[in-house]
Amino acid sequence: MEPSKVPLAGDADHLIDSTDPHHPANHICTLCRNFYNLGWVTGTGGGTSIRRGPHIFIAPSGVQKELLQPSDIFVLDYASRSYLRKRPDLKPSACTPLFLAAFDRGAGCCIHTHSQWAVLVTLLVERDASKSGAKIDDKYFEIEKIEQIKGIPKGRGNAGMMGYYDKLRVPIIENTAHEEDLTSSLEAAMGRYPDTFAVLVRRHGVYVWGDDVQKAKTQAERSISPSIPPD
Ligand SMILES: [Zn+2]
Repeated sequence: MEPSKVPLAGDADHLIDSTDPHHPANHICTLCRNFYNLGWVTGTGGGTSIRRGPHIFIAPSGVQKELLQPSDIFVLDYASRSYLRKRPDLKPSACTPLFLAAFDRGAGCCIHTHSQWAVLVTLLVERDASKSGAKIDDKYFEIEKIEQIKGIPKGRGNAGMMGYYDKLRVPIIENTAHEEDLTSSLEAAMGRYPDTFAVLVRRHGVYVWGDDVQKAKTQAERSISPSIPPD
């Protein structure tokens, strides 16, 4: 039998079998490889999820993200939240409920990284808060007058992109022992900051989402770019 005619192992494998590099199963692997090279998803941490029509494609948990293959990808039915394709030898991503929170807000792609730059920003905000002695219930990272801000939308809808003199505010939520337990505080931060496309997790990383892969990727690169030096 020709290699191309070899039947796939599972019934649902057609969902992840494509020669199109922009098919979510292929695209997630490419993105994760690139994010690994940026130091964003090292040590199996972080993940990426893409919505295409009724389906949610998700990188599994506990996998070396630079070695991810399309055959590793889980596929979820968005409406019923049930798995259409699940590898029995791999664990579903603990980020799944957090990705779904972004999709519920209309996102087409959500990226979670353990970027050291994102972690550092949360530590700097924490340091400054403890220095001032202020009790801050609503924590956020704020920045203005920086070129990278231009890649961030002003808000949802058609308000355009931020300009050099605009101020970007990214909410920070507290970390929890288990990733999935972040869901309620992530959703609360999304409610407090309806225009935000990112939420930082203190001493952990960041969730960034966008209308599609290109926008989510641009916003992740702009908001946690290694080219932004620490203060
Ligand atoms: Zn994480």
